[in-house]
Amino acid sequence: MDDQTFRTAMGKFATGVTVVTTQHGEDIHGMTANAFMSVSLNPKLVLISIDENATMLDFINKSGKFAVSILNEDQKDMSAYFAGQNKELKEVNFKWFNDMPTIEGSLASLTCEVYDSVIAGDHTLYIGKVTDIHTTKGDPLAFYEGKYRQISDCAEVK
Ligand code: FAD
Ligand code: NAD
Repeated sequence: MDDQTFRTAMGKFATGVTVVTTQHGEDIHGMTANAFMSVSLNPKLVLISIDENATMLDFINKSGKFAVSILNEDQKDMSAYFAGQNKELKEVNFKWFNDMPTIEGSLASLTCEVYDSVIAGDHTLYIGKVTDIHTTKGDPLAFYEGKYRQISDCAEVK
């Protein structure tokens, strides 16, 4: 099976878009990720999956913590920037929450401590124990078939 067949199939699974952030020493690092899921209610755990070539990997391994900001529909440029696709964005003003850098205006921010990690093929799965949560109202930025989508009418399927 070729890589494109796999990506095409995975692209059929509509997701939201997050920016994962962390801080090690004075250095803050952010990275766009859609491989994010809720894992457990008691304790409260979430999961992210980070490519072995991502700079973020070393950051999380050193800091032992990360934050996840769930983007709203107006934050496509933020997603493209933290995916390294748009170098033109000016300096990012992170919003400090529970002593962690997060993305201002996002629908939800969760701060996490690394609870467990598993190397899975060319990615590392990080399970984070959620230490604090901030939410706001708004509509999500969605990602489907490799493109950003708006679901602002959010029509309920009856
Ligand atoms: P870099 O590529 O070096 O950083 C990303 C960008 O953020 C660079 O432009 C950098 O300058 C900027 N940046 C970082 N920190 C700061 C800061 N403090 N101040 C200002 N600018 C900063 N990859 C995965 O591994 N897992 C996923 O789940 C995943 N999901 C994705 C979903 C989408 C919708 C997209 C578009 C990409 C996804 N990627 C995912 C790919 C991933 O976002 C890119 O490969 C990314 O470039 C990897 O980041 P990096 O840690 O290597 O850092
Ligand atoms: P795409 O069409 O490559 O992605 C469609 C879906 O395939 C994604 O939602 C994801 O589920 C899966 N996928 C893509 N690349 C993957 C990878 N390296 N490892 C595991 N799953 C992967 O979307 P695109 O707009 O071309 O993506 C832009 C860039 O971001 C590409 O370089 C892509 O590889 C990367 N990306 C990586 C991940 C990831 O590592 N989990 C997820 C999404 C996008």
